[in-house]
Amino acid sequence: DLAQDIEKDPDATKRPPVITIMGHVDHGKTSLLDAIRKAKVSEGEAGGITQHIGAYTVQQNGEAITFLDTPGHAAFSHMRQRGTDVTDIIVIVVAADDGVKPQTLEVIKIAKESGAPVIVALNKMDKETAQPDMVKGQMAEHGISPVDWGGDVEFIPVSAKSGMGIDDLLENILITAEVLELRANENAMAKATVVESSLEKGRGPVATVIVQNGTLKVGDYVVCGSSYGRIKALIDENNKQIKSLLPSYTAVVVGLNEVPASGEVMMAMESDKEAKEYAQKRHEYDRHIELSHSTK
Ligand code: GDP
Repeated sequence: DLAQDIEKDPDATKRPPVITIMGHVDHGKTSLLDAIRKAKVSEGEAGGITQHIGAYTVQQNGEAITFLDTPGHAAFSHMRQRGTDVTDIIVIVVAADDGVKPQTLEVIKIAKESGAPVIVALNKMDKETAQPDMVKGQMAEHGISPVDWGGDVEFIPVSAKSGMGIDDLLENILITAEVLELRANENAMAKATVVESSLEKGRGPVATVIVQNGTLKVGDYVVCGSSYGRIKALIDENNKQIKSLLPSYTAVVVGLNEVPASGEVMMAMESDKEAKEYAQKRHEYDRHIELSHSTK
């Protein structure tokens, strides 16, 4: 288990938290992700702000926080199934004018199963119809008890529309992260997780990854499931080419020979040969699984 290995590693140092925002459809997950990015990324860098990105990192008072977009909950559970849950803290967004809905309950269940700490973002507080106390009551009924009611979960009033409460939310994320003592070894062989992937015209197979341990560098030989390659480029969330990627940071990796599945683990290898062999073994394994399914 990677987390346990890092725990024992004396060379591990503090790393930023990775956050997933989840909630019922239309409660403002996308708006909140956009509002945070807009509030924290300077004008010049924000060129691509309207375009969808799988993950990004912002700075709050000199400390980094990475946000992960989960396009549908399926991807999230897929990631967890592979035992590569990259999320340190779950932010549950609930529209204060709408309250707890079926997908909110699903998210509460996922959060409980994952064991990750939870922060509730009470969104749409700009609306006159917002009823934060009603939401608190509903959440408390499902075991998510507000701190101001004697419970252990912070409820932060926000408005993705006006930007109200965004700083509060980020401060609370950092306080929660501090307690978790998140660490990684920047000098270990790099391990990252694919959060999104596609085949891009001109670039070929690309994968958005979050580094979990080590530092991913341009020129690294990597294997990622049954795909492999040598990293040709790392492109950050502001569309800038970077040379290396530290733990908890995210970038698009260019240089793989095939498109890897999301949730797949990317590992740096000593050589081209080793990466190829690893990928080949995985190909054979996948084929074996396929065959055993088709003969049933
Ligand atoms: P998602 O499905 O959870 O990603 O929700 P969206 O971010 O797409 O938001 C759904 C709708 O709610 C959109 O029309 C948003 O403009 C609106 N919305 C989101 N956040 C706020 C907010 O803080 N205040 C108000 N008034 N509307 C919001």
